[in-house]
Amino acid sequence: MPTATLPQHYTDLIALQRESGTLGSIAANISWDQETYMPAGGAGARAEQSSLLAGIIHERNTSSKLGDLLAQCEADADLSDESTPEGASLREMRRDYDLATKLPTDLVKALALAQSTAQETWKKSRANNDFPSFVDDLTKVLDLTREKGECYGYKEGGEVYDALINEYEPDTTAKEIEVVFTPLRDRLSAFIKDLTENGTAPKVDFLHRSIAVEKQHAFGQAITAQLGFDYNTGRLDTTTHPFCSGFGPGDTRMTTRYEPTNFPDAVGSTMHECGHGLYEQGLPKGGALFGTPLAAAVSLGIHESQSRMWENMVGRGKPFWNWALPVANKHFDNAFEDIDLDTFVKSMNTCTPSFIRVESDESTYNLHVMLRFELERAMINGDLAIKDLPGAWNEKFKNFLGLDVPDDTTGCLQDVHWSFGLVGYFPTYTLGNLYAAQMWETINETIPDLDAQMAKGEFGALLSWLRENIHQHGRRYSAAQLCQRATGKPLDAAPLMRHLERRVKPAYCM
Ligand code: ZN
Repeated sequence: MPTATLPQHYTDLIALQRESGTLGSIAANISWDQETYMPAGGAGARAEQSSLLAGIIHERNTSSKLGDLLAQCEADADLSDESTPEGASLREMRRDYDLATKLPTDLVKALALAQSTAQETWKKSRANNDFPSFVDDLTKVLDLTREKGECYGYKEGGEVYDALINEYEPDTTAKEIEVVFTPLRDRLSAFIKDLTENGTAPKVDFLHRSIAVEKQHAFGQAITAQLGFDYNTGRLDTTTHPFCSGFGPGDTRMTTRYEPTNFPDAVGSTMHECGHGLYEQGLPKGGALFGTPLAAAVSLGIHESQSRMWENMVGRGKPFWNWALPVANKHFDNAFEDIDLDTFVKSMNTCTPSFIRVESDESTYNLHVMLRFELERAMINGDLAIKDLPGAWNEKFKNFLGLDVPDDTTGCLQDVHWSFGLVGYFPTYTLGNLYAAQMWETINETIPDLDAQMAKGEFGALLSWLRENIHQHGRRYSAAQLCQRATGKPLDAAPLMRHLERRVKPAYCM
């Protein structure tokens, strides 16, 4: 319906949401500052600012005023029709409101306390390779997390894990993930085994030539500007752990990291965060929509599909480097002048089973994720006792990646997620890779000369496709609906396998 005819309760609701969005952008702003420029001495005051603001935001998001306005709008048949943007927006506001109000205060407090205790214990247990000392705290966090899932609730025939995924990947169930993951897992394991046993790994030594950090930064800015990141409405800064934060209209911050002798790491991080940044810049935050679900990202999996596409599908391909290698040589005083394009591209597509997820390559990464999905699902459903986690981890690791885990520090103690009670979060990483690969096939069918365009440094047609099919919709459609609309098919593991076979196999002389 035209804006002029929207009833007062709806415009009041939107105004309230906009204020919450603005408060959220202030929280994002001070948190970005904390990671980038805040002096160490500011930590105490910043913690106070953050916690006060979080309290105000939570109070607003659970207020009866918001609940009443929502109910009034939902009772309005013209407004609540889900096929309209307003109706879809209401559906998503209801989801957020329910998630924010369904948990009893006692549980929220108990979980916060258990999480902060478990994180401290986890740090020590990891440093000392002492899993048994972590068992009690991890059990406590997972028990409370299970309770949280029970409070959220899940569909009949489902499991408590579904309720937890819902926070990160709405409308997706453990069974749906399993159906896609299981065939992928077996094909990936076989693919990796074949490459590592029968192939010859490409040369990579030249990638570790020393490149000054300032030069890497200038190169990162140059390539991301060419990809389409708008520096009038964004920045690139440096942090230990790269991230991207879309503050609000006209302001998107991304960060990356640099090591003089690991230039590919910075390129990967920068292009990854740029993919997140392009999504944030493409969400319709202008006009009246900021603060509403229509101006927000649909899910972690879809967000990650954007970062992975630019990092991997674009950033490890020959067309991209046909354009970018001369640019790199210009920035780096011809550091790679003696390396031909094919040799360079092969070096960007290695496949080496290793123990640490965050250091793993494009092919093996997904097996690290699937292992965690299977284990956390078993722990939360009560099928795996926490004390038995190391044994189960090591056994799966051997099956999936063919390696013997030497100790728990390089095994089940490596990630912080479980100590936070983040269960259902890991699968979104691989869902992102799967969505990216499936979209990539459709994009290449729709833009048949995409490779030729990218080889000339032209990324406009690709970005337009993403703007039109993904970015502009915000949360109007679910991730699964978006995938179906954009690619004509439900999510499937085959495109990712085809991508890896096309891309990684040629890097190995077989
Ligand atoms: Zn990411």
